[in-house]
Formats: sequence, structure tokens, C-alpha cells
Amino acid sequence: MKDGRVLDNWSQVMQNNYGPPSLALVSGKGLVVVDSDGKKYLDFLGGIATNALGHAHPVIVKAVTKQVSVLGHVSNFYAHPKAVALAGKLKEMSGDSDARVFFAQSGAEAVEAAIKLSRRTGRSRMVAAQGAFHGRTMGALSLTGQPSKREPFLPLLKGVKHVPYGDIEAMRRVVNKKTAMVIIEPIMGEAGVIVPPPDYLAGVREICDATGALMVADCVQTGIARTGDWFGYEYSGIRPDVITLAKALGGGLPLSAMIACGASAYLFAPGDHGSTFGGNPITCAAGLAILNYIEKNNLMIAVKKHEKRLFQEIALIPGVNEIRGAGLLIGIELTNPIAQKVLVDLRSAGVLVNAPTPTTIRIAPALTVSPAQIGTFISIFKKVMTHVS
Ligand SMILES: *Cc1c(COP(=O)(O)O)cnc(C)c1O
Repeated sequence: MKDGRVLDNWSQVMQNNYGPPSLALVSGKGLVVVDSDGKKYLDFLGGIATNALGHAHPVIVKAVTKQVSVLGHVSNFYAHPKAVALAGKLKEMSGDSDARVFFAQSGAEAVEAAIKLSRRTGRSRMVAAQGAFHGRTMGALSLTGQPSKREPFLPLLKGVKHVPYGDIEAMRRVVNKKTAMVIIEPIMGEAGVIVPPPDYLAGVREICDATGALMVADCVQTGIARTGDWFGYEYSGIRPDVITLAKALGGGLPLSAMIACGASAYLFAPGDHGSTFGGNPITCAAGLAILNYIEKNNLMIAVKKHEKRLFQEIALIPGVNEIRGAGLLIGIELTNPIAQKVLVDLRSAGVLVNAPTPTTIRIAPALTVSPAQIGTFISIFKKVMTHVS
């Protein structure tokens, strides 16, 4: 198939669950992607916070190529070095000496694992935030707090309550000794990069401690140095019982993890859960290479620097009402509901972003973004804003 035909053929062969895509991308290098007409774009969405090291990064290419030529897959009847090494690294990052890791492929599956783990407390009720996104499988969707995504698929799991995000009193009212788990995004990504009050996570921690509910930090979008820390909750000083990771963990390869800490690390018994591809040697090799690269190259420090600059310079642009987020997960709140138009104009100008709400532009570029690329983004964004408003 000629590349130019990709978009034409899409609707003939693909389910329409995403709606027709705007571009067909055929290659990428670093933060630059190329479409089927040969046009280049600066990728400031990074596969939605997934391409941690950009496209075709040499350390990922090398790790994957090497692993696929040595041992591409084994069943979970057998151990292999890459999964054990990656789990060891995640355990070290969690700072918890009891931490134990379960690997899967997607964010929803990491959340599903957390749901099943929480059932092993003997409780079944769950609490999540309104507007939160935890995935699309039936269990994860039961926790996702967005009515438009849930309603066509009712009934979902029973015993789930959704409370306003950031409202600690609302949380206190619904969590009790029958609550198996409370799941919270440290920053709500899909909802439009919503940051809770600074003491919110500590408040949730306290409520979970008082009731014995597991506190699950869904770090699928905010994990792996995205916010300038390994995990999006770290600024709060708390430690959750369970951490879910996906997106950037595999840097574009399908890899997710559910890390259970403290006593919750021992809730699963043999036979309780599983996944054929979970902890696959190739994806784990990629994950290890990514974590080591982030550490060796001090990317977390770079992320904090970029954050400071983006916040300072974007806040000054006319038509910008507010800038939210942390590190390289940023929501630009516009004064008017023109986010879709801004997105289209940015795309024409060669920059890819997304618009999670009619007033919000989200950026989540690779952690390897250069100061020059940040500068390019700011100047193109400024130009587009002047023309649309
Ligand atoms: C993307 C996301 C998920 C779902 O991940 P999938 O890989 O699409 O299943 C879950 N939680 C959060 C916070 C996410 O951002």
C-alpha cells in the first residue's frame, strides 16, 4: 500500500471507535515525525506521554534488537533476567523494601491488576474521582469517572463511588471500612491536566490509613519522570500502597506494571492473576534501557528546567488563561473554547499536540526534548494564538 493511501483506506478496514485520524505517520526520529506525504512535525504529544525518549532512540533500538535476537518470549512458567532486573529497578524507585511487581501491557491492565489485588483484602467497594481516567476495559472503566465513556456500557462493576477530585471532605464521606481501594491520579491527565490542591494526596493517604483501604496512585500518565520525579505523587511526600504505570514505561513498546507496596505486596497468591505477554523480555529490555537512560542523563533535572521555562513564557501569551501541570505534562487553558482550532493550526504549522477539552491544549513531549525545540514550540504557539484570537 502506498503511504498516501493509508488515510483513504483506514475507514474501510478499521473500527470507527477512534473516529477518522487526521494524519498517517510513517516514521520518526527524536521529536520529529513524518507523515505519509513526507511532511515533518515537531511531536509535542509524544504518543500521549508515552514516547519518553522520542522516536527511534538508539538505546531502545539497541536494547530491543539485542533482546529479540537472544530471547523474544517465554511463558510465565519461567523467569528471565530482564523482567527480574526491571522489577528490581521499579522496586528501588518505589523506595519500598516489600514492593512486588506485576507486569502487563497497558494502563487498563495495570488498573485491572490493582482491582483484583484489592479484592484480596476481602473487601470490594472502590472509590475514584469524577473526571478521572483509568482505562477502557470493563473493570478499569468502572473506575473511570467520565459519564460519556461509561454510560453506553452499563452495567459496570458494582460498589464504585465517584467523588469530586480535590475535595477531601467528599472523599472522607464515602471511604469506610468496606472500601477495598481508592484510586487517584496525582494529576488528572485525560481530564485536561487537572492538578489537585497541594495537600490532597496526603489527605487521601490519611483517610486510607484510617479505614484500611488501599491507596492506588494511578501514575500511568504521570510516571517515569514525566513530572520531574519517577512517580507523579512524589511531590506530596506520601507513599501509596499500589502504583500503576504504563505509557512511558515501555517508551512506545506495550509495557505496564502494577507495583504493590508494604503488606499489599503479598495479597496475590499463585493462580490469582496472569498475562501471557506480561513481563515479556523485549518490552522489559526496553523499559530497563529507558530507566537507565533517564537516570544517567539526569533527564529529571532537565524536565524541571523545561517546566519552569514553559510556565513562564506560555503564561504571557495573549489568549492563555492559565497553565497547569508539572514537568512535561502541561495543560494550557485558553480564554476561549478554541482548542480544536488551535490544534489544527498548530498541525498546519508543523506541531502536534492534543485538546483534551474545548478550552485545553495538552503537551507531553519526549523527556529528551531540547531547549531549542521548546523554543520552537513556544514561538509557533504564540504565532498561532495571535492569528486565532
Ligand atoms: C492512559 C491512561 C490509562 C489507560 O492506559 P491504556 O494503556 O490506554 O489502557 C489509565 N490511567 C491513566 C491515568 C492514563 O492516563
